[in-house]
Amino acid sequence: MSIIVQKYGGSSLADIDKIMRVANRIIDAKKQGNKVIAIVSAMGKTTDNLVTLANQISKNPPKREMDRLLSTGEEISMSLLAMAIQSLGENAISLTGPQAGIMTDSIHNKAKIINIVSDRLLKELENYNIVIIAGFQGLNENNDIATLGRGGSDTSAVSIAAALNADLCEIFTDVDGVYACDPRIVPNIKKLTAISYDEMLELANLGAKVLHPRSVEVAKTHGVTIHVRSSFNHNIGTIVKEENKMEHNGLITGIAHDFNVAKVVVFGIPDIPGTAANVFRELAKSNINIQMIVQSSQINNKNDIAFTCSLSDARDAKNILENIAKELGAENILIEENLAKVSIVGAGMMTHSNIASQMFEALAKSDINIDMISTSEITISVIVDSSQCEKAVKALAEEFKLV
Ligand code: ADP
Ligand code: ASP
Ligand code: MG
Repeated sequence: MSIIVQKYGGSSLADIDKIMRVANRIIDAKKQGNKVIAIVSAMGKTTDNLVTLANQISKNPPKREMDRLLSTGEEISMSLLAMAIQSLGENAISLTGPQAGIMTDSIHNKAKIINIVSDRLLKELENYNIVIIAGFQGLNENNDIATLGRGGSDTSAVSIAAALNADLCEIFTDVDGVYACDPRIVPNIKKLTAISYDEMLELANLGAKVLHPRSVEVAKTHGVTIHVRSSFNHNIGTIVKEENKMEHNGLITGIAHDFNVAKVVVFGIPDIPGTAANVFRELAKSNINIQMIVQSSQINNKNDIAFTCSLSDARDAKNILENIAKELGAENILIEENLAKVSIVGAGMMTHSNIASQMFEALAKSDINIDMISTSEITISVIVDSSQCEKAVKALAEEFKLV
């Protein structure tokens, strides 16, 4: 019997009718002679609603309690789905992340899976043939619930597929697969039949919500092929796998955008060796992920250092830097929030030098001002005002012929 891992996102489980549809789909897969492990997200907007509740108490709720709170969303879905399958006459059991042996590191709100102790999961799979697991959560070294970061159920699914050497890992969502950009912004954008791990990883890291970045990382490390497809139809979706040069889509494979970005500026720190090290050492200690960094040229032996990171990290970063501003000799620390990052991704750009100028020209033609720029081997990202983000994505989709 093959082992199939399926992951159902929140919109696929948003109400009881949808849960019943998912239950039928899982039963179909089982009847085709497979053992099925289904990883579930919280129903619809449940996680957002829980965040809103917590924020009514505190702007910066304790991370441990936040993990406990948010993890309840997936536990509702897993139980309802197991009940739905049983109501259709099949056996199924639901397990929380800890019950399924998902062990994480101790960083609350963005924990990483470090191990899966699969004994119980395998035993239940033997007994029931269908096991439902709460995504997004695991047990950390302190015996506390930890969550994997927003969208983390994808990572739960791919990690379980890797641990069990599953035959198939399907990520069911509310779109037909991975498109060259978010189809909500450009409805006639091209759908990708296949995409390499490296390009998908960049798109996900740069904000394409369709897959959680860690899930792609785990898939690449363990050679898990992912099929991203819609839970609302039976269309073939997009295969994420090792690159096949023959399938190269063109110079630019996709465009990602991200509103979850903020700029932190540290003004007027002394231009002496070690200041940048001091700034970023303190941020690293608090697990703040830095994206772009710009240091302005010095005036009067003082520098400004600006960097971007996620919105929630930016607020933490400001607090940390304000606490050590005196030691750093910094004059002021500011955050800018109404920003967006727009990125183009494509392995093809490694061999073409004019892509950056083509991108900047297209943005200029649309009258979009660029605040910051960063590049890597296969990406170019710009920071723009958040109000310009959609316009930028549309302009780039046209420019690089992705529609
Ligand atoms: P789920 O709840 O199933 O995990 P998500 O909302 O996390 O679903 O991810 C699916 C959404 O990702 C789509 O509805 C789409 O708006 C968005 N998205 C962003 N970029 C892309 C892309 N390049 N291809 C497909 N979907 C994308
Ligand atoms: N429910 C969590 C979220 O909304 C995890 C997930 O859906 O993957 O971010
Ligand atoms: Mg998701």
